[in-house]
Amino acid sequence: MTATAQCQAQADLAELTTYRVGGRAQWLALPRCQEELLTAVAWAQQEQVPLTVIGAGSNLLISDRGLPGLVICTRYLRGAQWHEPTGQVVAAAGMPLPQLAWEAARRGWQGFAWAVGIPGTVGGAVVMNAGAQGGCTADYLISAEVLHDGSIRTLTRAELAYDYRYSCLQTGTGVVLSARWQCIPGHDPQCLQRETSDYLHRRRRTQPYHLPSCGSVFRNPPASKAGWLIEQSGLKGYQIGQAQVSPLHANFIVNLGGATAQNIYDLIHYVQAVIQAKWGIQLHPEVKFLGDFSSGS
Ligand SMILES: Cc1cc2nc3c(=O)[nH]c(=O)nc-3n(C[C@H](O)[C@H](O)[C@H](O)COP(=O)(O)OP(=O)(O)OC[C@H]3O[C@@H](n4cnc5c(N)ncnc54)[C@H](O)[C@@H]3O)c2cc1C
Repeated sequence: MTATAQCQAQADLAELTTYRVGGRAQWLALPRCQEELLTAVAWAQQEQVPLTVIGAGSNLLISDRGLPGLVICTRYLRGAQWHEPTGQVVAAAGMPLPQLAWEAARRGWQGFAWAVGIPGTVGGAVVMNAGAQGGCTADYLISAEVLHDGSIRTLTRAELAYDYRYSCLQTGTGVVLSARWQCIPGHDPQCLQRETSDYLHRRRRTQPYHLPSCGSVFRNPPASKAGWLIEQSGLKGYQIGQAQVSPLHANFIVNLGGATAQNIYDLIHYVQAVIQAKWGIQLHPEVKFLGDFSSGS
């Protein structure tokens, strides 16, 4: 594959993540249609270079040392087909979740209001089982089209083995191309738009949307809340370099401006160590680490 507008060498990845940190990709492809995506994946396989697929980069911490091989970012693979009157919507991997939430509300289709404050793509949501406000990706998902070993398969919700912030795609190499959801049409659009707007305002009041972050850093442990444990441990506001435990919401670690990925990584491990020592609870990161963090920067 030659270096075209869709494939750059030594491309900066920080701008492609909501944390605004991370090094360079050896190669970066930004496909604008499914065919370009398939070509890029085939190229990585043919050249036997590592392949990493990212969406909006809103649940990622990419190493300051960057990533080897090809990174494919799906954010330009947009578009959705809304099938009246069945209430089914098929959305491309790079479609932003908030856009789906607003469009569903405008049509009076119930099923996506929870997604309005999650700045990820359809692909990232399918992989992460993203959720909020008591709803999640798996609730209304029928199936996802996944590229695996050169062929495209339709995986049902059962095959995706969903659990809390988990799907089987987190341990495999499949590339999500699109997903099909079953919404419930026939609701009052104004009511749904108000509900969607309320969700967004509530989140903006209680979470640090004004600073770069990855949302909640840690999964909630059974029968507890990661944010509560961190707050009760006196860690709100604690900083390593320009990475800070948010004073607004303790399960967020924010980039105050000049943080490195290593600052954030070290702070995550510091918080884990404090919680382990104080409460005997191991916090597990929800954020995905990509690249080499082995021995500091
Ligand atoms: C301010 C803020 C608030 C947030 N609030 C929430 C919340 O309430 N609930 C919640 O669940 N999450 C939340 N998040 C985290 C994040 O938005 C979700 O996890 C989202 O689903 C990630 O989607 P993405 O497109 O950004 O995926 P990325 O972060 O780019 O990638 C996440 C994982 O999915 C993989 N991936 C992405 N796209 C594909 C694809 N097409 N095929 C195969 N693998 C793929 C990546 O390799 C990676 O392993 C928040 C993040 C921020 C910044």
